[in-house]
Amino acid sequence: MSTTKEIPYKIYLSENEIPTKWYNLRADMKNKPEPLYHPGTHQPMTAEDLKPVFCDELIAQELDDTTPYIEIPEEILHFYKMYRPAPLVRAYYLEEKLGTPAKIYYKFEGNNTSGSHKLNSAVAQAYYAKKQGLKGVTTETGAGQWGTALSMACAFFGLDCKVYMVKVSYEQKPFRREVMRTYGASVTPSPSMETAIGRKILEEFPGTTGSLGCAISEAVEVATSTEGYRYVLGSVLNQVLLHQSVIGLETKTALDKYGIKPDIIIGCAGGGSNLGGLIAPFMGEKLRGEADYRVIAVEPKSCPSFTRGTFAFDFCDTGMICPLAKMYTLGSGFIPSANHAGGLRFHGMSPVLSQLYHDGYMEAVAVEQTSVFEAAEEFARCEGILPAPESSHAIRVAIDEALKCKETGEAKTIVFGLTGTGYFDMVAYEKFHSGEMTDYIPTDEEIAASVAKLPKM
Ligand SMILES: *Cc1c(COP(=O)(O)O)cnc(C)c1O
Repeated sequence: MSTTKEIPYKIYLSENEIPTKWYNLRADMKNKPEPLYHPGTHQPMTAEDLKPVFCDELIAQELDDTTPYIEIPEEILHFYKMYRPAPLVRAYYLEEKLGTPAKIYYKFEGNNTSGSHKLNSAVAQAYYAKKQGLKGVTTETGAGQWGTALSMACAFFGLDCKVYMVKVSYEQKPFRREVMRTYGASVTPSPSMETAIGRKILEEFPGTTGSLGCAISEAVEVATSTEGYRYVLGSVLNQVLLHQSVIGLETKTALDKYGIKPDIIIGCAGGGSNLGGLIAPFMGEKLRGEADYRVIAVEPKSCPSFTRGTFAFDFCDTGMICPLAKMYTLGSGFIPSANHAGGLRFHGMSPVLSQLYHDGYMEAVAVEQTSVFEAAEEFARCEGILPAPESSHAIRVAIDEALKCKETGEAKTIVFGLTGTGYFDMVAYEKFHSGEMTDYIPTDEEIAASVAKLPKM
């Protein structure tokens, strides 16, 4: 790729280059993602159906498949200015270490206290809840990044925040919990005795350490049964991908400044929000036939929704009370084995990305945990940033693609999303260093058994 200027180590944008509109990729999709379906009636959910669960303005965004650009309210833009624009970094040292002719760039979203991109959507969701006059919101958190981001956003807008944290994380990550409490959130280990679904699960499975799907069920129950509260979710939903489009829009502005066109765009995929945001404007060009890019989603081999899942309607939670989404899924009862990338343990995938993948617009690869930590360490030692285990999935594949370029001599341009930092994941790094990390891969039988329980539509 020819470049007109010398590329700096970091391509910074100025404050007024933060996008003022989110880009809604669905507007350019010929095959739209299926809407959410009612878990009881199996009919598409209307705005009216969704009202008891979600905030009104967010429902409108969730259902809007046609408006390409949506104005970012000024209050949200002001908040973005506290930690954005995020830098786009040229990984010169990593390139040198790999001896590759490839040009590698990463968009770093870890420059805020939540340590991840999740704040981009948390601030939007908290803002709309406040605007609606609500008292507070409920949510679940697994690894803790989403709960932290939401606590920060709620503290800023003066909203109560009730977080249901998967019990095993609550116990293993006491510092994450305290960060949330510093921002004023209440943090309850899930399953808890506070909800009917929690009591039911505890009765059935007394010593359980919880799961994300179970924490979602509790948070939804509390939101729908408490006056002035709604439920918010940090990934998967269309609205979350919309908010995360700031990642891709900023990336494109930065690349365009230097006339750089990426060949390959890579991101880790848990529920698909950072990847959906990063690729948004590029995928838009691809869908409109204006440009072509290779897009690669990276997932853990222990939770391979894209690469081994089924494209079907499924519940978003274990309690089967949430709406059904058409997505690549391993089944809502699938519990991934102990894996240290907490943010990539969801059984399903964004309906937008699922449709794009199904239609052949993107690729997916699954990688093993130990190879992810090898890549994380290699990256940390030359680029200076201690990456989150989730983000390191993207690093793994960026390195692999750069090494392929070394063999072929092609100077491809690779852009990947570095979604966050790993300071709260040192137990994972410890397991890796002491050689105790394992690579559990589910068998075909296990996946088939879980997928067999998908709801019949
Ligand atoms: C939550 C999280 C992810 C995965 O979530 P997506 O919705 O797929 O983006 C990736 N990286 C980090 C650091 C996270 O916190």
